[in-house]
Amino acid sequence: MIELRRNEVWFVTGSQQLYGPDVLERVARDSATMAAALDAAPAIPVRVVVKPVLTDAEGILALAHAANSAPGCVGLIVWMHTFSPAKMWIAGLEALQLPFLHLHTQFNEGIPWAGIDMDFMNLNQAAHGDREFGFIAARLRLERQVVVGHWSDPEVQDRIGAWTRAASAKDDWRHGRIARFGENMRHVAVTDGDKIEAERRLGYTVEGYGVGDLVAIVNEATDGEVDDLIATYLDEYDVVPELRPGGDRAMSLRDGARIEIGLRRFLDTGRFIAFTTTFEDLHGLTQLPGLGPQRLMRDGYGFGAEGDWKTASMVRAMKVMTAGLPGGVSFMEDYTYHLDPACDLILGAHMLEVCETVSEERPRLEIHPLAIGGKADPVRLVFDAHPGAAIAACITDMGQRFRMIATVVDVVAPLEPLPNLPVARAVWRPRPNLKVNAAAWILAGGSHHTSLGYAVTVEQLADFAAMSRVEIVVIDGTTQLDAFRDRLRWNDLYHLLARGL
Ligand code: MN
Repeated sequence: MIELRRNEVWFVTGSQQLYGPDVLERVARDSATMAAALDAAPAIPVRVVVKPVLTDAEGILALAHAANSAPGCVGLIVWMHTFSPAKMWIAGLEALQLPFLHLHTQFNEGIPWAGIDMDFMNLNQAAHGDREFGFIAARLRLERQVVVGHWSDPEVQDRIGAWTRAASAKDDWRHGRIARFGENMRHVAVTDGDKIEAERRLGYTVEGYGVGDLVAIVNEATDGEVDDLIATYLDEYDVVPELRPGGDRAMSLRDGARIEIGLRRFLDTGRFIAFTTTFEDLHGLTQLPGLGPQRLMRDGYGFGAEGDWKTASMVRAMKVMTAGLPGGVSFMEDYTYHLDPACDLILGAHMLEVCETVSEERPRLEIHPLAIGGKADPVRLVFDAHPGAAIAACITDMGQRFRMIATVVDVVAPLEPLPNLPVARAVWRPRPNLKVNAAAWILAGGSHHTSLGYAVTVEQLADFAAMSRVEIVVIDGTTQLDAFRDRLRWNDLYHLLARGL
């Protein structure tokens, strides 16, 4: 469902007319070579498209307007092969609505010591041309990423690749719609927020639907469609006997299949990127959707329970950022602790809705009672999450701004089997330890809901937050509480001032 190769970044080279046509031709040729190499680099998942060399303000402004409205263009990579007087960049950079990465590189990797002359010096001036460009970007207070090194360097290509993943998530948010079936869970604070400011700053729209709108689509699912989906379940999961065709509770699985079909149809038809449900508003649905959200997350949709549209958006953003990479991303909730100081752990889970992409094993498809909601027992996939480093992140509404909070954790195998726990779960060790990690998370106002992703990196999330000019705080192995508290205080001031009135 998520195909990053459909996206492109434009490779933009700045110069000026001073040098004459021969030099500019050479600049264009070199740029095409570099863009083709980046386009072919496995670390960069989007297409890299070379653009004509820019030498004046009109051309730069026209390029910015074209990029803003080009479908599939998620950002620019900009560099100066020669010197490019930067006043010519003011109008274009101010008009640009897409993120850009300043690639501080040059065509040649080394200095040709024996052969170097003034022609070579005039052609290869990025060392000072890029500083002139950097000044104007800084002078305009533009958010951007700066990557330094030769364009063939694998580390440089990795860094660019990570940024294009963040830019793809930003683009996805800019055009994204989130469907919300039912409202917020009554009285819950952290899952609520300012949807107008979200649309303005983060880009996506949050669109509410009565659950009856979904029920109408669910009820349209045909017996043939349900039969086909049951066959898929039997193929992909270890289905408990009571849910198999002919089993005592086979009808419950058919109800679950019908809900998945309806949800999928609703979301596909409306071109939504994410959705929320709430157990408080299920009128007309036989059971709380569990299996459906689990499988829709697997296919790339963001999801949040209890009306949590912000976490749904984070799940989706991580799905986009890690598309094509192993590891998985899931909606998650910090559920309960193992407070042994020698082995402090968090057990994460939810009532039902954990994505099977994080599963260690072939999931089991089971049915159990749910203590809340007053509906029939819901079907759900049950499994343990696989071990590995991961990031849990959320986005909260602090009133005058959004704050993204991310923490690095290590998912581990449960210390013992959990035979009586009827939901999918992940057990992780927070960095640097639970005492510091949870204190920092709570001081920052982090949500109990998160998106947990394995392949996503702190670097990608920091790029992503910067693109929306959203605050981000990270809790990792180096976190010290005093410094972290100070940072929260300073950030309050910075973001208030940076936003202005
Ligand atoms: Mn919850």
